[in-house]
Amino acid sequence: METTTAPNTPLRRKANLKTLGRDDLERFVRDLDQPAYRGRQIFKWIYGKGATSFDEMTDLPKDFRTRLEDCAHVGRLEPTQVRISDDGTSKALFTLPSGRKFETVLIPDIGRDGTPNRLTVCVSSQVGCAMGCTFCATGLMGFQENLSPGDIYDQAWYMDEHARERYGRGISNVVYMGMGEPLLNYDSVLSSLRLLTDADGLDLSPRRITVSTVGLARRIKKLADDDPGVNLAVSLHAPTDEKRSAIMPVNRNTATDLGALRESIAYYHAKTGRRVTYEYCLFHRRNDTAEDARRLADITTWAPSKVNLIMYNPVGDLPFERTPDKRLNAFVKELVHRDVTVTVRRSRGQDIDAACGQLAVTSS
Ligand code: SF4
Repeated sequence: METTTAPNTPLRRKANLKTLGRDDLERFVRDLDQPAYRGRQIFKWIYGKGATSFDEMTDLPKDFRTRLEDCAHVGRLEPTQVRISDDGTSKALFTLPSGRKFETVLIPDIGRDGTPNRLTVCVSSQVGCAMGCTFCATGLMGFQENLSPGDIYDQAWYMDEHARERYGRGISNVVYMGMGEPLLNYDSVLSSLRLLTDADGLDLSPRRITVSTVGLARRIKKLADDDPGVNLAVSLHAPTDEKRSAIMPVNRNTATDLGALRESIAYYHAKTGRRVTYEYCLFHRRNDTAEDARRLADITTWAPSKVNLIMYNPVGDLPFERTPDKRLNAFVKELVHRDVTVTVRRSRGQDIDAACGQLAVTSS
């Protein structure tokens, strides 16, 4: 395991243009009596070239750059620590101007020939999380702060540079599965998706981006209406209301229980035509019986879908255990028997607490 640590970024007081998207930047420059295309030029510099000073923006008039210098700055989050797991997974620790910290993970999928098939960034959308899933390290932190679109973008930007250094090419996929519930920070997440997919930003295909939610039914419908073209994953983790409510407090509310989820999934599919991925973390003797697999198979009939089975990573003293391989195999067999498309996700980055459900800031 490698670890590098850098000093914190200092606080700045001027308007941070990194909090603005394309339209906002055009409005911003118009307020400074400049034509809208100046906003588009600034957008390219900030999001496409990673500029952090106005001096770099050489196609802007010198007097306009001086004016910008007086009233604005371009913030960029840089990690204060980067750790690299024995299996190649990288975890970056970022510190916000508020002093709060959050984490981002890069998961390389390296082919037999040694070159990466996929370089997936797992971004955080909030510091901590209000959802309180009982098996999750982030849930134990509670909610602390929403991240801005720029904060989310900077995680992908940093990991893109990190990937180029380590693997000679940039990131290929982004998943919103780090800290936080993305749909509770809806506007910022939607804006960040626009930045990531903008041809003048990181220019990622929406098909290579997945937003993961605990299953907030009304927000799933809103995402279907706004349809940014990305994939949707739902953290299911149990196939009945009783079992799900026992480990996921969000399910105790009738607005977000399995009945509401079912309706929202049907709506999502009708609107977007896309299939849904169910994330299902296996916990020994809690949700891993043959009957659980049969009920999970029933859920997959709500709309075209697939299932990702996740092997649990033990977190501190929490009373959850990983399902033994024998039970995992029986569970998979039961699903396959019912024509469910299923994949098993093995854990990555466990030695640096970067695996699913392990993100919680415990070091500085
Ligand atoms: Fe929040 Fe996801 Fe953890 Fe649940 S599993 S507490 S939604 S971060």
